[in-house]
Amino acid sequence: MLQKRWRMTNQRKVILEELRNSKGHLSADELYMLVKRKLPNVSISTIYRNLEELAEQGLIRKLGPRSTQKRFDANVQPHFHIRCVKCGRIDDVPFSMLEKVRNAINESTSMVEKITGYDVVGYHLEFLGVCPDCQKKLEEKKERESYGR
Ligand SMILES: [Zn+2]
Ligand SMILES: [Zn+2]
Repeated sequence: MLQKRWRMTNQRKVILEELRNSKGHLSADELYMLVKRKLPNVSISTIYRNLEELAEQGLIRKLGPRSTQKRFDANVQPHFHIRCVKCGRIDDVPFSMLEKVRNAINESTSMVEKITGYDVVGYHLEFLGVCPDCQKKLEEKKERESYGR
């Protein structure tokens, strides 16, 4: 095959390292700010391209398309997410913790296929909430408002 062999370039390595170190689910813009500190000449389009390629290689996971900005995840193991409806932050919910949910979904799959006629290849489950930081901010805002009265 004439296909170019995929290489782990230094740029890709730095991007991957930053994503892994963040333990979070960063957007390309957020990663750009981090990577720029180590590679000052890097451009945002390079970040985008490399993120897409890392996702294609299965080294990271692309999250979305629900969030306004695409976020990337260094954790490629199966797990669920919880997303903050205020700031868009995403955290992991360990897969193992939700065995009942998993079993219920597995059991429902054949029923879903029968009803819809689809061949089910997966599912998307996301918890929504208000993250601890935003909860604190909301509390502070409430306090300020009550003082101002
Ligand atoms: Zn939040
Ligand atoms: Zn995750």
